[in-house]
Amino acid sequence: MIKVSKLVKYYGQTKVLDGISLNVAKGERIVLCGPSGSGKSTLVRCINGLEQRSAGDIEIAGHKLKADCSNVLELGGDVGMVFQQFNLFPHMNALDNLTLAMRRVRKTSRAEAEAQAMAMLERMQLGAKAKAYPRELSGGQQQRVAIARALCMKPKVMLFDEPTSALDPEMVQEVLDVMTALSREGLTMIVVTHEMGFARNVADRIVFMDGGVILEEAAPDAFFENPQHNRTREFLRQIG
Ligand code: ATP
Ligand code: MG
Repeated sequence: MIKVSKLVKYYGQTKVLDGISLNVAKGERIVLCGPSGSGKSTLVRCINGLEQRSAGDIEIAGHKLKADCSNVLELGGDVGMVFQQFNLFPHMNALDNLTLAMRRVRKTSRAEAEAQAMAMLERMQLGAKAKAYPRELSGGQQQRVAIARALCMKPKVMLFDEPTSALDPEMVQEVLDVMTALSREGLTMIVVTHEMGFARNVADRIVFMDGGVILEEAAPDAFFENPQHNRTREFLRQIG
């Protein structure tokens, strides 16, 4: 479903991704972790075309992403993304946040878009909040609206970049629960997170990045019980 090969990314003179190769199968759930600055956000932003890569290839659901990302809109609906800061439009209520892209990008009619959006909000237990503005919602609710908005585009792949790290502790679980439910429905997911309980329960594979390379990848049991690198052990000690 996702094929990243020999991906290199420079910011100016600084190489922040140094030859990343990563294949993600349909329905596979990957947790991406690693120290701050290791390049996790840059990698997911390159995969969904928010950043142009310096070298290497990216293929999503059989479509090659051009180096200048000029075909990203054609692929745009295939990749959904959820950010740490929920990135909702503050001047639009929850329902309108969901319908905007469906109407603009998918050209769905207003009635159809609203019906689909309401169904998605209800699935996220937010049916009663359809008319609420982001500032009237808790952090956990806002993040669930952001997830619902991404899902409305029927993506083949969902990328999450630290979706719970801006939340108050009591709201983390409601968002992780939604993501766990999605993972059971066979959605292909790459999740950047330091929530190692979630990683253990949900991931098929954990990918550990350090200094712009993938240092280690393994199934959760092997990753936690028997990490191969000192850097991985150090990381697990720090976040554990
Ligand atoms: P964190 O866990 O803190 O979110 P990360 O693993 O997501 O870290 P990135 O945000 O991908 O790391 O950053 C990788 C490197 O690239 C860092 O050294 C960062 O300073 C640098 N970097 C990121 N974005 C830019 C940018 N727009 N311009 C210049 N340098 C950048
Ligand atoms: Mg990051």
